[in-house]
Amino acid sequence: MNSTYNLRLNELNQMTLQLQSELHSALKEAQDASYAKTRFLARMSHEMRTPLTAVIGLSELMLNSGEIHGDSADKLDKIHIAGMTLLGIVNDILDISKIESDRFELHPIEYDTSSLINDIISLNTTRMNEKPIEFTLSIDKNLPGRLFGDNLRVKQVFNNLLSNAFKYTDSGTIKWDISFEQDGDNIWLISNIKDSGKGIKAEDIPKLFQDYMRVDTSANRETEGTGLGLSITKRLVSRMYGTISVASEYGNGSVFSVRILQKIISPIPIGKQTADNLMSNNYTKTKRTQSAGLIRTDLSYAHILVVDDMQTNLDIVKGMLMPYGIRVSCALSGSEAIDMIRAENPRYDVIFMDHMMPGIDGVETVRIIREEIDTDYAQNIPIIALTANAIAGTEQMFLASGFQAYISKPVDIMLLDSVLRKWVRKKSPTKHFIYPNLCDNIPALNI
Ligand code: ADP
Repeated sequence: MNSTYNLRLNELNQMTLQLQSELHSALKEAQDASYAKTRFLARMSHEMRTPLTAVIGLSELMLNSGEIHGDSADKLDKIHIAGMTLLGIVNDILDISKIESDRFELHPIEYDTSSLINDIISLNTTRMNEKPIEFTLSIDKNLPGRLFGDNLRVKQVFNNLLSNAFKYTDSGTIKWDISFEQDGDNIWLISNIKDSGKGIKAEDIPKLFQDYMRVDTSANRETEGTGLGLSITKRLVSRMYGTISVASEYGNGSVFSVRILQKIISPIPIGKQTADNLMSNNYTKTKRTQSAGLIRTDLSYAHILVVDDMQTNLDIVKGMLMPYGIRVSCALSGSEAIDMIRAENPRYDVIFMDHMMPGIDGVETVRIIREEIDTDYAQNIPIIALTANAIAGTEQMFLASGFQAYISKPVDIMLLDSVLRKWVRKKSPTKHFIYPNLCDNIPALNI
């Protein structure tokens, strides 16, 4: 009896061990697959963003040059808009994959409430360009002036909802109502976006927030979309402890209501004047004409080294720096950049460094500059990552690797401007030479 019992016990032990080992290999396989997927996403992000950088960057440079007019300018504008649309799709696919693989994190910072609202409005009102839509905004003037939260993700939530309102409304009205409720040290930011557009059928409403789900596809045949926007929005909202709901009448429009939790940094309200300014804005300017109208500081005393293995990218950055009068040198590889920093002739004020390059990549190049060139200059020169890799955690990785800041490609002109103000602008420039804007060591593409 005892021996049969022992035999069974042994068998059970064997089976448990085998199961454990199978579970272990399955876990390892899943981890390897998830690692491979993440690597694939990083590569895909890079591979798709690189040609998009050229399409968006070059078309923007040409449009802003003032040299293209009439029909050609219209066509170029369409190329630019198509590039931006494709970039939005790449970003959405990356976002949903990051969220699925749990690599998604919020990065809260202190932000200015009215600037955030202003940015969202400027981006979205470009979408109503050719449609007879009346856009109105209503903002509670007591909204706290400074908040703490992931401002980029907050923008993404409202951008997704507003862009849908503009997409699915051919004519009529769109009203954005922003209010809040205080909750201790936090506020519930409350947004209602009401459009008089196509509306959604009652039976489709439960499907709206599913991945890749587009509804009423025959009526919306002409409208571009991936069906990812609302599912990303819902997940972002729940990460901010919030809720999203929709009320709609087919043929008569929809209201998307959102509540998200943000911490109060300054209870001082944005005030009547700011609220009135935002509400009475001229909503016809496009983002591009805004960036075209950007007043550039004179940075002609600065000399920047741009490192990128692609000549086109060098030309785009160079073209973007041109209005500042900045002198630009270029390096086509990490090792060339290291030699130029080692030589200290000339000394640069800032380095813009690409990430993925053949040979020594950007991160390794920065490590060598920081650790192996034994000079104060090499250890302290500000280095800004310029990369097409937009996978989660990228910014932290750069900051932990000796970089001072990170700009993703395609480069947003307004973001570049704020980085230049922070890292290049001196308090009181001593020299005011206007240098010709050429990579002084590499001939430019003729664009
Ligand atoms: P996409 O717009 O890329 O298709 P979304 O996830 O943002 O994807 O939206 C899913 C679907 O919900 C859309 O395809 C559209 O049918 C519907 N929808 C979203 N917003 C609105 C709106 N404001 N009015 C009418 N339909 C909408």
